[in-house]
Amino acid sequence: MNVLDYTFEAYGQLLDAALDAGCTVLTVREFLQRKELPDRFVLLRHDVDRRPANAVRMAALESRRGVAATYYFRTGTFDSETARAMAERGHEIGYHYEDLARTDGDVEAAHRRFERNLERFGRSVPIETVCAHGSPLSPHRNTDLWEERSPAEYDLLGEAYRSIDVGPDAPGGLRYLSDTGRTWRTPGSGSEAIATTGDLVAAIESGAYPRVYLLAHPCRWADGPLELAGRIAWDLGAESAKLAVGRIRG
Ligand SMILES: [Zn+2]
Repeated sequence: MNVLDYTFEAYGQLLDAALDAGCTVLTVREFLQRKELPDRFVLLRHDVDRRPANAVRMAALESRRGVAATYYFRTGTFDSETARAMAERGHEIGYHYEDLARTDGDVEAAHRRFERNLERFGRSVPIETVCAHGSPLSPHRNTDLWEERSPAEYDLLGEAYRSIDVGPDAPGGLRYLSDTGRTWRTPGSGSEAIATTGDLVAAIESGAYPRVYLLAHPCRWADGPLELAGRIAWDLGAESAKLAVGRIRG
């Protein structure tokens, strides 16, 4: 774990490296709408699990460089004014749903809840894509909401996991990299060699990763080492809670 990594400064350098390498930055909506994809691109996704102020910071870093990303807000991190301001700058706002976990696996109740929340978000900004939250403390996988129904029923373009192939043999050589666990190493994606943001910058600069799908959680990034130490402590607490639940479930 690199304490100096995952700073907003490092994030800015990552964006600069992608732009210098000639990558187009795409939102999830743009990715799903395009008939043809650029040779080099970064599909940029942010799950706003906590600390919405950090999402605003990240969006500003992107706007300053003339690029936009997709921000998935939970019901608890969504704020209509913030969402509107971000959408005005070209960012895509989506719903980070966890309805199946919240209804304890009741699929019908989860759909009613999903629809209500989608309507609430949609009153402020157009919502065209959604993305499941991990809900680590629940035994229910939120993506199971779509076992018998489809996001298209809600006039959605797609879902960030279901609609995008993130496997090692994904079409077009798309590589999925996530900062979950404070490393970019993402098991099963063929990108295990990339640990730090520096590694990722080098891979993008070398052209080895011309097409990447990046998930950066704004709450995991910070101004500098001191603030980051606090974040890591929080993460470690959350990790041990997940482990404890895992052990109880056995
Ligand atoms: Zn999440």
